[in-house]
Amino acid sequence: MKSESLLFGTKEWAPHTFNYISGCSNDCVYCYAKEMAIRFKRKSADNWRIEEPVSLEKRSFGKRNGTIMIPSSHDITVSNLDKSVEVLSALLESGNNVLVVTKAHPCCIDRLVTVFESHRANMEIRFTVGSANSTVLKIWEPGAPSFEERLEALRRAFDARFVTSVSCEPLLDEDFDTLYAQVAPFVTTAIWVGKMNAAYRRVRVNVDGAFDERYLDALVASQSDEKILELYQRYRNKPNIAWKESIKKVALRHGVWSDESANGS
Ligand code: SF4
Repeated sequence: MKSESLLFGTKEWAPHTFNYISGCSNDCVYCYAKEMAIRFKRKSADNWRIEEPVSLEKRSFGKRNGTIMIPSSHDITVSNLDKSVEVLSALLESGNNVLVVTKAHPCCIDRLVTVFESHRANMEIRFTVGSANSTVLKIWEPGAPSFEERLEALRRAFDARFVTSVSCEPLLDEDFDTLYAQVAPFVTTAIWVGKMNAAYRRVRVNVDGAFDERYLDALVASQSDEKILELYQRYRNKPNIAWKESIKKVALRHGVWSDESANGS
């Protein structure tokens, strides 16, 4: 496999995406969608956290060829939960397979697993969590649920017999062992692991200078090639681990990538 041929971003997970809100109250400082919205002057660093509905007129909810990731540029939150249920219902009623990706407000997950119980076969829920430490999460994702809330939401989806996965992208600290041990019992498919991409540029755009860059320095140092290779070597044989493009590239660059460790890709 060549580095240039790797899929990246949402394409690693699904050929289609569906969004219906502008802005996201989680307000993650590393957010790609926020950076794009600021660059194209649709939102500012200050008002990204305000969620505004996008018109669904002229949008197609028909059957698509391949999984639809929903959402990819915002989250399912308490304030947009009704609209999220409406959109998911329309896509599922058309026979689509959906991959819900969320930082998982527990009451939102409760509602989804109740409403869509009969669509379990066409729905996977992926929980994004980059650290098992809520203090760390608060630094990077100030409006998002705590680790304990996300773990509880994951457990509820698992108990409701949904297909579940976890995205540890971006990793937010070096203690992956604790995170893995906590989430693995409730994951039915894969735990995806990835680095923070374009960390300095993105955070500087997103928070307009109001972020303590010592956190960035420490995070980038914790994701050096040496440290990522060490993580890769320790977890490469776990059948439930899937590596995102950012980590595959490091393994390829150092000649240690193995397709046998390519679960989920
Ligand atoms: S949850 Fe996703 S879309 Fe929302 S701010 Fe965080 S990274 Fe951006």
